[in-house]
Amino acid sequence: MRYLLFIFLLFLLPSCAVEDDYVPTSIEPIFMDNPSAKLLVDIIYVVPSKNYNQSKYAMDETRFMDFINGCFFNRHNIGFEMGESRVLINSELYDLKDNRDQESSVFNTETQDSYRQDRMNIYIIPRTNTVAIAGIGLKQRALITDEFLFTTTTPHEIGHALGLSHREVEGNIMCRVKPYLRKEFDSDQVDTMYNKILSIN
Ligand SMILES: [Zn+2]
Repeated sequence: MRYLLFIFLLFLLPSCAVEDDYVPTSIEPIFMDNPSAKLLVDIIYVVPSKNYNQSKYAMDETRFMDFINGCFFNRHNIGFEMGESRVLINSELYDLKDNRDQESSVFNTETQDSYRQDRMNIYIIPRTNTVAIAGIGLKQRALITDEFLFTTTTPHEIGHALGLSHREVEGNIMCRVKPYLRKEFDSDQVDTMYNKILSIN
C-alpha cells in the first residue's frame, strides 16, 4: 500500500521526484572546444542566514561544469560556461520541507528577483531539506539538491529550464521513471534547447 502511495505521489509531483539516480557508466564524456550554442551559468548557493557558511556545500564548480558539458551537452554542440557563483540568503527556499507540495511555486516566487534572464541559473539547497524532491526546473532556473548534483537530475532540470517537458521514454533524460536509465536527449529536445539558448543570447 505504501508503495502504491509512493508511485501515486511520484506522478503528482510537478517534477523530478527522488528515486535512485546516477550517471550510467555507459556515458563517455565528450568535450568540444567551441560549441556554437553557449550559455553562461551562475551557481547560486541558497543559505538560511548571513551566518551560514556556504562552503558547507563543498561544491567543486569546475568538476560540475565538466560533468554537464562532457556527459550531456557538448556532444550536441551546446556548451555551458561558468558565470559567477554567489549566495542567496533565503530561508523559505533553503528549507523546502516546510513547503511540501508547493516546492515549484515557492522556487518560482523566491527566485524571481535573483535570477539573471541572460543566463542559466542553478540554485543549490541541501537534499536533507526536501521531502520528495531531487530538483526543480523552470524558466532558465534549476534547483538541484546537493546530493543530486552529479546525477542525471541536473541535465533533467536544465532541460526543463530550457523549455522541455517530460517525455516518458525509458532512457530519455526527461523521463520521470527509472532515472538510473536516463542517458540522452532526442534530436527534437536538442533543437528546442539549442534554439532557446540562441534566443537568450
Ligand atoms: Zn522533471
